[in-house]
Amino acid sequence: MTNPLPSLKRYCILKFRRCDVCQVCDTSKKLIIHHKKYFDDSVIYKQFSDTHDGRIQYYAKLLDEIEKRPTNFNSLCMNCHDHLHKILNFSKNKLDDYCNSILNSRFEIIISDTYYARHPEEIEAYDDD
Ligand SMILES: [Zn+2]
Ligand SMILES: [Zn+2]
Repeated sequence: MTNPLPSLKRYCILKFRRCDVCQVCDTSKKLIIHHKKYFDDSVIYKQFSDTHDGRIQYYAKLLDEIEKRPTNFNSLCMNCHDHLHKILNFSKNKLDDYCNSILNSRFEIIISDTYYARHPEEIEAYDDD
């Protein structure tokens, strides 16, 4: 029997993106569906068992959330996703410095989308300067 997991994940990504590639580096390998923001009813990966069935259940539930909030997700490869989460842990100053220094505007957009989704109060502060 073939493993339904890759096609289920692909189906999830195609609900919010035109193609299932990393939004930063365009690879199609080892993709992760990143939540910009977690809501009270968000589906959380760690709440499902670390088994094949657990993964299937996770993506099946995630599909409902993607249909509800298609703009809340990014498709990222494992490397870009790890990198993103490392940067999101920076202090605001360090994060701004980082964004000013990188030449990859796609990555910069992904960083700020998630940052401002999680810190909406910062949007007004940003408008001031
Ligand atoms: Zn990538
Ligand atoms: Zn993530």
